[in-house]
Amino acid sequence: MSSNAVNRRQFLAAFAALAAPPTGSLPPVSWTCPMHPEVVDDQSGACPICRMALTPVRLELVWSCQLHLDVTEHRAGRCRICGRQLVKIIKALSFTCPAHPKINEINPGRCPIDHRTLVARYALRPHGDHNPKHGGSFIMAPNNWHVEATHPSPSQFRLYVYDEYSRPFIPRGFTSRIVVGESSIPFNPAAGGAFLDARVPQLALPATIVVRARFEEKQPEYRFDFQFYDYSKEPK
Ligand SMILES: [Zn+2]
Ligand SMILES: [Zn+2]
Ligand SMILES: [Zn+2]
Ligand SMILES: [Zn+2]
Repeated sequence: MSSNAVNRRQFLAAFAALAAPPTGSLPPVSWTCPMHPEVVDDQSGACPICRMALTPVRLELVWSCQLHLDVTEHRAGRCRICGRQLVKIIKALSFTCPAHPKINEINPGRCPIDHRTLVARYALRPHGDHNPKHGGSFIMAPNNWHVEATHPSPSQFRLYVYDEYSRPFIPRGFTSRIVVGESSIPFNPAAGGAFLDARVPQLALPATIVVRARFEEKQPEYRFDFQFYDYSKEPK
């Protein structure tokens, strides 16, 4: 991979998926900052952080699969791809033309180019999903990315890393370790690269671990505390 940044951008662009429109009335219009998605107001104005003009967005709580975030359903149930139980996450609803994906309207209507009826499109929101994906505990890092630690079996710990949209993503240069007293045990990439693995022998339940992780070379090392009262189980 020559450029992480380009791959990441393509990944983001591929993300918006077409779905059935919401049932009943539309979610209300909120106002958010293009640079600070955590800023959400019920009226237009300027971002309190950067003073940019807020832009309109319709936020909707929908059902989605933690492994297939492009799945959008309007009721509880199971993922049509993998059969997992769906969870609630926040997505942004807009309307687009099937032939002109650049059209992105906040209200339903017709395409200004070919007059087709616009269809609903659901896009992920940063921090719209803070559910653990592998039965562990999920924490937001100060840099807006996320980590989840699991304890699947005695002495075994796994670490999953997610971006601000809670999509799995292990940044290049990522390092992490479990601090045990004066020493530390490094997490190593596991087979397939989906998560990192570390073993702490003789740590009984309930287990508390202190993880120190650095996402990128120039960032500080952050501390995360995880507690396990039981072994983690993958949701079904
Ligand atoms: Zn802002
Ligand atoms: Zn799924
Ligand atoms: Zn069109
Ligand atoms: Zn978050």
